[in-house]
Order: sequence, then structure tokens, then C-alpha cells
Amino acid sequence: MRHKYFDIVSGRKQSRVSAEDFRRALRQAGCEPNGPGAFVWNSIGESDKGSNFNIYLLAFSEPCALFSNTRSLTIKCPNCGTQMTPCEWHGLLNNWRASGNTGSKVALKCCGVSADIAALHYDPPVYFTEAAVTLCAPESAPAPLDFITRLQNAVGEPLACIERIC
Ligand SMILES: [Zn+2]
Repeated sequence: MRHKYFDIVSGRKQSRVSAEDFRRALRQAGCEPNGPGAFVWNSIGESDKGSNFNIYLLAFSEPCALFSNTRSLTIKCPNCGTQMTPCEWHGLLNNWRASGNTGSKVALKCCGVSADIAALHYDPPVYFTEAAVTLCAPESAPAPLDFITRLQNAVGEPLACIERIC
């Protein structure tokens, strides 16, 4: 059977929802860990019965950028609208990761304006995070919105759902 993946992350530009925050939220949302380290989870929620998706926790030891893996990602300066090359962006990303997700500002080459990496204009959106909850579902299944809403209520801030395009 073919599957698809949804990565659920904080929808805020500056957020530090940790793997531990997601573990707490998963418990509150009616899930229990299945296996050591609490990276694999089972939903025991009544409304999820028969919905047939698997839940995994992604925890990165260093901050990461997650986005739908389309080949058409565009990144633009929020000030002058100049499109950035992937190479330039990876340079900024590198600095941001090295700073440990502290949101350090960088001067952009195009117009010299100082901007945070999260403040650039992305299409599709890019999320900067240290943790995510991944749902693996049959290809034909819709996004499990009920589950995502419960998780969002437990986390206490808006979540975004990134569908991986395979
Ligand atoms: Zn610019």
C-alpha cells in the first residue's frame, strides 16, 4: 500500500516547541508511547479508531528547516523582493543552525536590510523547528484534522501541517 506523510510543526515563526513538549501534548491528546524513547506512538483516542495512521516523533539534535519537498521552493527578500538562490539561502541556514535557533539576524546581499531567516518570504512555507510529529497515513486518507486539532489544543499554539510530496 502506498503511504504519505504529514509533518506537524509549530505554525509560529519564532517558536521552540521541543520534542518533550510534543511528548506531553501527545499524551494529552490521547496517545501513548510504543517502544523505548517515546519516538513511536499509538493513538488510543476513540475518534481515531479505524483511521489507520501511524504517529512518530521527530527530534533533531540541531534545529532544522522543514517544508513540503516541492521542487519549486522560492525564497524572497521581505524588503525588496529579490529572489535568493538556494546556495545563498543555505549559507544563511547554516549560520542560523550554528547559532542554535536563536534567530540571529543577517544582512541580506540584495539590499543590505537585516532580516531573520524566518522573516524571509517562502513559497511554500518553511518552518524552523527542533521537533515535529509525523503522521504516516495511507495515500488515499485525508489529513487527520481531528487529531491535529487535539494536538494543537494540547501544545497550546497553532500547528502547521506539511504534506510531504513524494
Ligand atoms: Zn532585499
